Amino acid sequence: MPPMSFQPATPEEMQERIFKLETDIEWLSRRDQLTGLLNRVAFLSEVDGHLLNKTGLNCGCAMVEIVVRGMPRISGTLGRHVADYVISSLAARLNRMALPPNTTARIDHNHFAILLHDVNDPLEALTLAKGILTTLSQSVDWLDRHLVVELAAGVALAADNEGDGANFLHNAELALKSATNRGGPAYAFFNPALAQGAKRRNDLLLAMQSCIEKNQLSLNYQPVFNSQTRQLAGFEALLRFNAPELGSVSPSEFIPVAEEAGLIDRIGTWALMEACNAASAWPNHLTVSVNISPEQFYSGTLVTVVHNALELASFPAYRLELEITEGVFLKDSDAVLTQLSTLREMGCLIALDDFGIGYSSLSYLWQFPFSKLKIDRAFVNALESTVMAKGVLQSIIGLAENLGLKVTAEGIETEAQAKALTELGANYLQGFHLGYPTRVADLPGLMMKAARDRLPQPANSDLSNTTVRFAG
Ligand code: C2E
Ligand code: MG
Ligand code: MG
Repeated sequence: MPPMSFQPATPEEMQERIFKLETDIEWLSRRDQLTGLLNRVAFLSEVDGHLLNKTGLNCGCAMVEIVVRGMPRISGTLGRHVADYVISSLAARLNRMALPPNTTARIDHNHFAILLHDVNDPLEALTLAKGILTTLSQSVDWLDRHLVVELAAGVALAADNEGDGANFLHNAELALKSATNRGGPAYAFFNPALAQGAKRRNDLLLAMQSCIEKNQLSLNYQPVFNSQTRQLAGFEALLRFNAPELGSVSPSEFIPVAEEAGLIDRIGTWALMEACNAASAWPNHLTVSVNISPEQFYSGTLVTVVHNALELASFPAYRLELEITEGVFLKDSDAVLTQLSTLREMGCLIALDDFGIGYSSLSYLWQFPFSKLKIDRAFVNALESTVMAKGVLQSIIGLAENLGLKVTAEGIETEAQAKALTELGANYLQGFHLGYPTRVADLPGLMMKAARDRLPQPANSDLSNTTVRFAG
C-alpha cells in the first residue's frame, strides 16, 4: 500500500479554518446550548447596541419577558429530558413568531426575552405579547401526552427605560413579577411605580439586614382579655423594626420582604426565643402568642426551633400560642399538618389568625389541630356596617364552639364592638380599645393596672402612642 500523502494546508486554507473555528466559538458563546436562542449576555449586548443606534428612549421598541411555569413539575414527574423538550419546542415556536429584526433569547432556564422592534405604544406591545403567550400556551405533544405549561409575561417600553439594556430587561422583569404576584391576567405592563416599589423593598432589605446584624429588632406585646371577666389573658408578640433611615415600618410591609429574601427564618426564630424569654417573667396564667410565617414551615426546622425556644427560656409549651394564617396551606399542606400535629402534641396552642379575610375555608378548621380561631378586624368592623355580618359571625363562633375551639375577636376599637362580640360568644377580645401593642419595659405597669381595674375604659385616641392606658 502506498504511504498516505500528507498535504499541509496552504496559508489560505489555514486562515479559513481558523476563521471558521472562531466563528463557531463565537456562535457557541452567544447561544443557549439547548434552544439555539441568544443567551442572556449576548441578548443584553444586542439590546444595548440597538438602544445606542436608535438613541435610547425614542428607539420605539418593547421588551417582553416570559416565564414558563410548572417546569419543576414536568421535570420531577417525566424527567429532565422531557422538560428540555418542552423548552426547546417553545423556543422554536417563539423563533417562528418573533422574526428578525425582533430578537429572542433564553435568559434563564425557564425564562425567555424578546426585544420587539418598531413598537411605540403600550397597546400594540400588549397585543403582541398576548399573541405570543397564546401561541406558546398551546400544549406540547410528548408521546401520547399533551403537556400544558402556564405562562406569564411582563412588558416594558423603551420610552420608560432610563438606563441600558440590563435596566430595560429589569423593567420587564418587574412587570412580570407583578403579573405573577397577583391573580387575573397572566401579563402586566411596567410602570415607574413598580421600580419605586422595588427600590423601597431593596432599601428595606438592606436596613433589615443591618438591624439583624446589630440586634436591633424588637417585639411589642398587645394585651388580650377574657371577654366575660375582662381579665388579662395574655399578649400577642408583634415585631417592630425601626430603621434610622426609614423610620418605623409596619410588619405588614417588611415581613413579605423578609419572606422573599429568605430572612424570615432567622427573624422568626429570634421572635420565638425573645417572646418565650419575656413571657417566662410573667404570671403563670398569662400566655404569649407568636406569629409564624408560612416560610417557617417550609424550611422544616420549626418544631426544633420551638422546642429550643421553650427549653432555653424554661417556658411551658401550654403557655405558647403559635398564630398561623391560611396562607400556610397553599403549598405542602401535608408537611404543615405533620408539623402542626407535633407542635400540638408538645402542648403548644395553635391559633388560626386573620380568619374572615383570605380564603376563610371552614374545612381547615376541622382538618387541622387548632385550639383557637382569631376573627379578623375586618369582620368586627363589618358588624356595624353590614346587616348579615352578625349572622355570619354567630355561625362561625357556633361552629368553633362545636369544634372545641376558643375564639378571639381582633381589632376591637369601641366598647360597643367589645359588648357585641362578647354577646356573640367570642371568648377573648383584642384591640386598641383594650390596649395597644406595648414595649416590654412598660408591661409590668400594664399588668398591675389590668389587675387593679378589670373594666378598662376606652384607650386614649392617640394611636401612635404605644403605651396602654386604662382609666384609673
Ligand atoms: P396580626 O397578627 O393579625 O396582628 C394584629 C395587627 O392588628 C397588629 O398590626 C396590631 O397592631 C393591629 N391591631 C390590633 N388591634 C387593632 C385595632 O383595634 N385596630 C387596628 N386598626 N389595628 C389593630 P401590626 O403590629 O402592624 O402587625 C401586622 C401583621 O404583621 C400581623 O397581623 C402579623 O400578621 C404580622 N406580624 C407581626 N409580627 C410578626 C412576627 O413576629 N412574625 C410574623 N411572621 N408576622 C408578624
Ligand atoms: Mg397575629
Ligand atoms: Mg390577625
